[in-house]
Amino acid sequence: MFKKILIANRGEIAVRIIRACRELGIKTVAVYSEADREALHTQLADEAVCIGPAAASESYLNMERILSATISTGADAIHPGFGFLSENSRFVEMCSKCNITFIGPSAEIINKMGNKSEARKTMIEAGVPVVPGTKDPVFQAEEGKTIADGMGYPVIIKASSGGGGKGMRIVTASEEFIGCFNTAQRESVNAFGDNTMYIEKYIVSPRHIEFQILADKYGNVIQLGERDCSIQRRHQKLIEESPSSAITPELRKQMGDTAVKAAKAATYENAGTIEFLLDKNGDFYFIEMNTRIQVEHPVTEMVTGLDLIKEQIRIAEGQKLTIKQEDVLIRGHAIECRINAENPARNFMPSPGTVTNMHLPGGNGVRIDTALYNGYKIPAHYDSMIVKVIVHDVDRISAINKMRSTLGEVVIEGITTNIDFQYEILSNEAFQAGDVNTHFIQEFFE
Ligand code: ADP
Repeated sequence: MFKKILIANRGEIAVRIIRACRELGIKTVAVYSEADREALHTQLADEAVCIGPAAASESYLNMERILSATISTGADAIHPGFGFLSENSRFVEMCSKCNITFIGPSAEIINKMGNKSEARKTMIEAGVPVVPGTKDPVFQAEEGKTIADGMGYPVIIKASSGGGGKGMRIVTASEEFIGCFNTAQRESVNAFGDNTMYIEKYIVSPRHIEFQILADKYGNVIQLGERDCSIQRRHQKLIEESPSSAITPELRKQMGDTAVKAAKAATYENAGTIEFLLDKNGDFYFIEMNTRIQVEHPVTEMVTGLDLIKEQIRIAEGQKLTIKQEDVLIRGHAIECRINAENPARNFMPSPGTVTNMHLPGGNGVRIDTALYNGYKIPAHYDSMIVKVIVHDVDRISAINKMRSTLGEVVIEGITTNIDFQYEILSNEAFQAGDVNTHFIQEFFE
């Protein structure tokens, strides 16, 4: 059993993890950058260690500093949260060399699934449907063009190491291919230091449906139902819900079984997510696996009643899964809205600043995950997501109404946020009818 966990992250997810540890009676160590001296996670943890200047590369991505903070405070394990080092296999290897448990899968699994073209290969071999496309990585634009011409357009060029929508380009015609490939590849080299690309058929108007997986060290794998993350802006999720209004119980079972098969093929361990695209014919395709806890995990928690962070900790401690697949019950409907400090009127530019006055609602079935407080100065150095509003109710329309009512009550002064934009989405007729796909925002709001 862990006695002390170091949380290698910041913001709402660090606070979320500290709370789970506290409930389990585990001591916590926060790490913080110089810009986060006053941050909530720094204040809430039992201990806090400064790990460097504001720039993430010198603090939250600084492996040596984080490991030395872990050793000097005597923590047994590191929870990486999401982003930063959460999918960095070298960091996982360094943890194990220092006899520190990384709360997540092994370095080998992260390598296998984190490299998206490798993951495609693994899935093809396991008989999991993937989006039609290349089996081997592509490095040259000309070579890619020949393949894409053969596949027919539109296609999507993706970076093997990609994430957060980076290194991705849609190509609608052959003559655009070379330019798009070079741009996507350059973006990938700059962001991930990797020029490995692959090509997929571009699925028109799909839904993004992902399954939450839990797997212990003994080969037991379960899925906790799906999350529909079709409401995206520039491939970035904005609203997530569970269950999805797009799938029947039969399709849910089929996709869920496939997700379990995919996780088993990856010899997966800990919490992870299998992402699929679902097309208009009801065919679904694996796109990637995320080997970490995700931003949208609370919607699954709300409908299953489980605590995924606690489950991650228990799995990392070597405990067996106590929940069997048949014990997983999906109750009611949950929705999450990501509130970002950004300005919708200015092309969603980040708008950091000081929160001068704040009121966050509560009530039956309302959950707020945030690290904000009155007077808090949001640093400009990190992600702009500042609050997650999650609601749970008996069915989808009740949950939508609850979310509208909840958002209507939020007051965050001193900065600009996307709350009104979120409210508009929730008020949209097509959204309310569940008639959405990944182009929804583009279609209705751009
Ligand atoms: P990232 O890891 O950068 O988030 P993903 O591979 O998960 O990239 O894709 C993110 C989003 O991009 C998907 O949710 C979907 O909206 C869109 N997308 C990805 N692949 C395809 C595809 N083959 N066809 C259509 N849309 C796609």
